[in-house]
Amino acid sequence: MNEPIKTDVLIIGAGPCGLFAVFELGLLEMKTHLVDILDKIGGQCAELYPEKPIYDIPGVPITTAQGLVDSLMTQIKPFAPTFHLQEMVETIEKIGDPLFRVKTDQGKLFEAKAVMIAAGGGSFQPKRPPIPGIEAYEEKSVFYSVRKMEAFRDKRILIVGGGDSALDWTLNLAPVASHLTLLHRRDQFRAAPDSVNKMMALVGEGKIDLVLGQVSSLEGDDGRIAKAIVKRNDGSDFHIACDALLPFFGLTMKLGPVADWGIELKDGELIPVDTAAFESSVPGIFAIGDINWYPGKVKLILSGFHEATLAAQKAYHYVYPNKRLVFQYTTSSSSLQKKLGVR
Ligand SMILES: Cc1cc2nc3c(=O)[nH]c(=O)nc-3n(C[C@H](O)[C@H](O)[C@H](O)COP(=O)(O)OP(=O)(O)OC[C@H]3O[C@@H](n4cnc5c(N)ncnc54)[C@H](O)[C@@H]3O)c2cc1C
Repeated sequence: MNEPIKTDVLIIGAGPCGLFAVFELGLLEMKTHLVDILDKIGGQCAELYPEKPIYDIPGVPITTAQGLVDSLMTQIKPFAPTFHLQEMVETIEKIGDPLFRVKTDQGKLFEAKAVMIAAGGGSFQPKRPPIPGIEAYEEKSVFYSVRKMEAFRDKRILIVGGGDSALDWTLNLAPVASHLTLLHRRDQFRAAPDSVNKMMALVGEGKIDLVLGQVSSLEGDDGRIAKAIVKRNDGSDFHIACDALLPFFGLTMKLGPVADWGIELKDGELIPVDTAAFESSVPGIFAIGDINWYPGKVKLILSGFHEATLAAQKAYHYVYPNKRLVFQYTTSSSSLQKKLGVR
């Protein structure tokens, strides 16, 4: 079994609230690791609306969602948190008082004195395309994300979709694949224009194929795909021989494994917390941001920032049971300023 990574606090979710928790925990000298299913930092802000303006962050009259994530990353830099992206926390086991063993779907193990769940609306999960029997091929030759590009070297790849993920992976995997086809149902793309131009250039150079239509069925054995049957928009059929199919149809949010962590839930989807420390029914496990519930809860980023601040104060007592916590302002405390690297 892998050696566990030891940390003071493990944060589940690298959305805005998980990121701000790094700051508040860092000011109180607690080290953090963050795990997130996504391949990027920033939760809903980065995944769902990076370019939209946000107007209700205190003291910031306007920023974009990605701008907010970038500012949070600058703010937490002095605390050097470690990110573990593209990993989903699957289990949390209580092994001490409090000490938790946390395991991800990639087999990574953590031991933390406190856990902060900042899992938002839950796990982002890929939307499955409506292809009969596709489940039998998943994780063998149908993949909804690319964890290691090398796994696709010299393979015949069929990418389906017209958004940023489909186009980004088309551009990244084109040099690795033995042959790559991009399939989209129409000749207009939702992806960034620059990516579309680069993709069209590859098509023009004969390096990849672009095909219009939709996959109607798959043929293969033992989960190994041999060909995809594609329906053209005029109703005619043809097939594309391929070793791997990568559908990028967007993401949906599901609570995911949070439901199995032995924590009391409200309506099966939110974690009830007290409003003094935003602690769950399990001492040492906190819940902040969109995932928690208490009377009057408002699902705004600023609420999560407040919750992270109070949760950090209580987490301190688990991490340093014999130390007294002294309240300090960043404006006047030289010790906080040293931690921030500004003195
Ligand atoms: C279109 C849109 C516009 C919005 N505009 C505003 C606005 O103007 N102002 C405002 O305050 N709020 C706005 N919001 C809401 C705001 O984005 C959320 O309140 C905020 O993102 C919640 O932050 P969070 O950190 O709690 O969770 P999230 O941002 O949801 O991040 C949670 C992260 O946890 C990860 N995760 C979940 N489960 C696991 C697991 N088991 N293992 C590992 N990782 C996991 C997810 O992948 C995700 O990245 C908007 C939301 C949307 C969709």
